[in-house]
Amino acid sequence: MGACTICGKPAGLLNKICDECKEKDRLAKIAEQERYDAEKRRQAEEHKRIAEEERALKAEQQRAREEAARVARENKITAAIEALKSRLKNGEHVFIYNSFYVPVDSVLQNNEFASNFDITFLKKAGLLGWEVVGIIPRTIGIDLQNRVIGDFSNTAVSYGGGIGGNVAGVHILVKKELSFAMLETADDELISSLEGIAF
Ligand SMILES: [Zn+2]
Repeated sequence: MGACTICGKPAGLLNKICDECKEKDRLAKIAEQERYDAEKRRQAEEHKRIAEEERALKAEQQRAREEAARVARENKITAAIEALKSRLKNGEHVFIYNSFYVPVDSVLQNNEFASNFDITFLKKAGLLGWEVVGIIPRTIGIDLQNRVIGDFSNTAVSYGGGIGGNVAGVHILVKKELSFAMLETADDELISSLEGIAF
C-alpha cells in the first residue's frame, strides 16, 4: 500500500494518488475546461459585438453620404429651377426635349418588325404639350447568305452581300416649351431633364 503523493493517505496498491484526490483532480480539470470555454465564448461574443458596431458605423456613414448626395442634388435642381424661372421672367423661351421609340411595321424577309405603327404614346404626348421635332429611323443591316444545298453533310453557306438601312422603328424626338407652372410643380420628367446638365 503506497501513500497518496498529494494528501499522504493510503492510495491503494500501485496507485500514487488516492481516489479522493483523483476525483478532486478530475473535477478541477472540468472546472478549468469550463472556465476556458466560457472565456472563448466571451471573446467570440466580444468580436461579434465589435463587428456589429463596425457594420452599424459603416451603414451610418453610407447613410450620411447618401443624404449629403441627396441634398447636393436637390440644391443643384433648385438652383437650376431658379435660373430657368429668371429666364422665363426675362421673356426667354425655354424648351425641354425627350424621345421615345416606336417600332415600324416594315416587312423584311417575310418577318414583320411590328404588327402596326402604334402612335398611342405620341397621341398622349401631344395632349401633354409635346411637339414632334424630329424622327430618326433606327435601321438594321442583314447579311445575305448563298446556300448550296448538297446532301445533308455538305450544305455550303457563304456570304452573299448584305442589305442595310432597313427601318425597324423610329426614335421620335419631341419638345415642349417650359412654363412657370411646370417649374412650380417640378415633376419627375422635368427634373430628369435638368439632371446631368450644367447651367
Ligand atoms: Zn490523496
